[in-house]
Amino acid sequence: MFEKNVQYLKGVGPHKAKLLSRLGINTIGDLLSYYPKEYDDRRNTTKISLVTPGQRVTVSGKVLASDVLKLSRSLSVLKVALSDGTGTAFAMFFRKANPYHAHDVFSALRAKIKTGSTVIANGTASLNFGERQVNVEEFEVMEENSPGDNLTGFKRIVPVYALTAGITNKWLRSLMRPALEAYAGCFEELLPEHEFKLLNLNPIREALNKIHFPGDPDEAEASRKRLAFDEFLLLETALTVTRRKNSAKIKNRRYSVGRQLLTPFRAKLGFEFTHAQKKTINEIFTDMESAKPMNRLLMGDVGSGKTVVALSAVLLAIENGFQAVFLAPTEILAEQHFITIGHLLEGLPVRSAILTGRHSAIKKKKDVILEGTAGGGIDLLVATHAALEGRVRFKNLSLAVIDEQHRFGVLQRGQIQQKSENPDILLMTATPIPRTLSLTLYGDMDISVIDELPPGRQRIETLHLSEPEGYGLVKEEISKGRQAYIVYPLVEESDKVELKAAVQEAGTLSSTVFSGFKVGLIHGQMKADAKDSIMRDFRNGKYDILFATTVIEVGIDVPNAAVMVIEHADRFGLSTLHQLRGRVGRGMNRSYCVLLGSPKTEEAKRRIEIMLNNSSGFDVAEADLDLRGPGEFFGTAQHGLLDLKAGNIIRDAGLIEQAKSTAAGIVDKDPELKTREYSKLRTELIRKYSGRLDLLMVG
Ligand code: ADP
Ligand code: MG
Repeated sequence: MFEKNVQYLKGVGPHKAKLLSRLGINTIGDLLSYYPKEYDDRRNTTKISLVTPGQRVTVSGKVLASDVLKLSRSLSVLKVALSDGTGTAFAMFFRKANPYHAHDVFSALRAKIKTGSTVIANGTASLNFGERQVNVEEFEVMEENSPGDNLTGFKRIVPVYALTAGITNKWLRSLMRPALEAYAGCFEELLPEHEFKLLNLNPIREALNKIHFPGDPDEAEASRKRLAFDEFLLLETALTVTRRKNSAKIKNRRYSVGRQLLTPFRAKLGFEFTHAQKKTINEIFTDMESAKPMNRLLMGDVGSGKTVVALSAVLLAIENGFQAVFLAPTEILAEQHFITIGHLLEGLPVRSAILTGRHSAIKKKKDVILEGTAGGGIDLLVATHAALEGRVRFKNLSLAVIDEQHRFGVLQRGQIQQKSENPDILLMTATPIPRTLSLTLYGDMDISVIDELPPGRQRIETLHLSEPEGYGLVKEEISKGRQAYIVYPLVEESDKVELKAAVQEAGTLSSTVFSGFKVGLIHGQMKADAKDSIMRDFRNGKYDILFATTVIEVGIDVPNAAVMVIEHADRFGLSTLHQLRGRVGRGMNRSYCVLLGSPKTEEAKRRIEIMLNNSSGFDVAEADLDLRGPGEFFGTAQHGLLDLKAGNIIRDAGLIEQAKSTAAGIVDKDPELKTREYSKLRTELIRKYSGRLDLLMVG
């Protein structure tokens, strides 16, 4: 029934169907679950005697008379006199019309609005030549014997939908009403009746009707929650099933903590692990030693030291004779990691290599790497998703570390799982995910949090300044012996035009405002060893100022750098800004992050405010979610997984918890959802998630 094309509905021809499809409405089911984005309370009408000019009003009255007037060469009006017993008002229907055809233009309207019928209309009121007039936006004719019952747009709380050109709210409402009457009955409960009654939920069909046409605002919200519960129940059931499937898997390898690599690695680090790092490493090692494959998400703010934690896991795998892969979402990130990891592992007998799209361009080099991973000559492969290609094989891969997980997408997890038998998986994110979200999205994973920064880190003072003030601060800090970054965040590091503009601006600054200072320049299109040597020079104090692009978002760690100036900060997303800010405040000195640029949109203003008021990545992430919604935050890959129409992942935390425990109860009772009671739930799960989650029950 539901999969029926919307064209089955009266009033939807091929043209309208095409427009509806732009809203994601293709089937009747899609239409019914196209929920209002808000409501317009039109329960009350205004007595005509009380209509005040300038107000938006809704009036209703009997049609006394009507007439068409030509106002100009191209504008005419149908003027309808309405009386409600308290007074008379003129409903004005303005239409563009050539005077000779004015009557044709109005003939359809006049056929509907007959003298003696009752019309209800809304619009802005005015007073002209002593006449009360209403410039009509919407109107309906009431049925004689059941006044009000047939109305979809008046005397009720009216749904307001997100629209596209060519589709009006009025039309959509008039489509929705009969569609609900005919098809809402086909909506089935996901749960058997006694269960949803137990949960104190309204029947689904009632909720579906009332989310579109509620009697009052409370009814609308209750219905939204009812429908949201089903969405969350599906998601949580999928996650629970996946989680249990995973935990039923058994690794056929054994790790033991031998410390041949770990001990020398620690010894040469030059610092102690923080308490939070130790705890996390313990959790990871326990996972790796256990018979179940690890499936763990590691969250930690910028600079919290995730890399050395991940490397500890990598070394455990390698000292037990296995291979590991370290995945980064972009080439630059992969290269930076490769360099950092190279330094951290110097002197240890670990054979590592890098594989990115760019490196694979050199075929010979790639062949050597493929041979190394397949033959076992490479212990650690640092890579972009190039490593997920079918041709990349491993001899005995046992661990995959995926950095910046939220930029990857859920599917890639599945791809890496196919590279070997039940590999251990460690996902990392520097954009910490608010609790409700991590529960929802990563309900199938174990979570570790590094909630502590290495000792001695200074709070970073974030300021929004004018250029002279910002550059002044840079000079002041340099005079105290500190160093500074001036960053041009590029949207695309590979964009030549954008890069050229940034390099030019940097050149101008260094020969004017900063002439006489020692400056360096680094950007994404330089060769890896050139970048490496510039970073080393900066760290060794050869430059006062390092002009840079977003390439330094990761991988640079210079404790003496105390100022980070971000040019055009208004153009950049919160996660980029927060990552950049994390490049300072790494030493013992008070540090500053200076945002330059004047925000042109409301959203940009909010972003700057959020940066000024929040220092923790968790708070920034939460504010970002609030600002842009989970779709933007996670990118489309994961948005598809959520696909929430009624549910709101931030506001519905309580509902999510309820759905989660309901799901757990169901899967306890019926792990494969094989009983009749849950056949509807099972069908919907397969329809929604097959191919996206590792739902083995599907096969
Ligand atoms: P992120 O979590 O952002 O990936 P990194 O792993 O890049 O953070 O670590 C940031 C910096 O802090 C690195 O230079 C790293 O060597 C250093 N670091 C990590 N752990 C500690 C620690 N316990 N004490 C001091 N410095 C540390
Ligand atoms: Mg990192």
